[in-house]
Amino acid sequence: MKPGKLLARTLPLLLLALLWPARGQSTLADEMALGNPSNATHNALNESNYLIQRDSYAMCYSRWDGIDRWVSWHLCAQDIGTNGRGSYTTDTSLPSGWYEAKSSETPSWSSDGFDRGHMCPSGDRTLTATANDQVFLMTNLIPQTPDNNQGPWEKLESYCRTEAQAGKELYIICGGWGFSKRISSGHVTVPSHVWKVILELPLMSGSDVQRVTSSSRIIAVDMPNIQGIRSDDWKKYRVSVDSIEANTGFDFFNNVPVPIQNVLEARVDNQ
Ligand code: MN
Ligand code: MN
Repeated sequence: MKPGKLLARTLPLLLLALLWPARGQSTLADEMALGNPSNATHNALNESNYLIQRDSYAMCYSRWDGIDRWVSWHLCAQDIGTNGRGSYTTDTSLPSGWYEAKSSETPSWSSDGFDRGHMCPSGDRTLTATANDQVFLMTNLIPQTPDNNQGPWEKLESYCRTEAQAGKELYIICGGWGFSKRISSGHVTVPSHVWKVILELPLMSGSDVQRVTSSSRIIAVDMPNIQGIRSDDWKKYRVSVDSIEANTGFDFFNNVPVPIQNVLEARVDNQ
């Protein structure tokens, strides 16, 4: 074959490979691609809206609640491997003088009746030990009742990974709202509810925010942080994103055009 002809045959394949690469592990650039729900900033003066960005997730932390207010991350099949579960670790990155939830807190959260509930779950970050270690930092954990955390909350986490393995990529944001009580000598707020918002896209390279349409699938749930719900289906707790925006004061998907947000955020998933 003449060199020119060989090039003509291989060039389209090369271009295709470049334009359509296998998507890699989620990175820092992915975690907030669809928005920053509270316009959090990495500024110690911003004590209740303090942005922390890591390869595994982005989060908004509140000094006065002693927990995160939201955690946002991207999930695709390439994030799922065999590393996990790590060990709980004190997050020493907070500004000096701020309370740090210790990995060996006394009294422990469990003695107060709560699990150390992952926001970005361990199972979503198992490709590398580094990625998994980040989700075991105490700032990624909030006090969840065992029946919530190990019941419908965990079922929805597993469902997200099933969707990712089936060729979807997911933008996930979650946190707590409302007030139940304070634990850890008053340093840590237990929210009365936990919520999660998920936007699903077919796995593809390129700009995800431009692929969001008014027919993209959105799943939002709002679950009470109580005992007695362990056997519940997560689907029982589906709500609109609008209702979570109303309860939290956040604006989800604020990088998505407002007319599309308006349609997506009013819909309640029924798939
Ligand atoms: Mn959990
Ligand atoms: Mn919004």
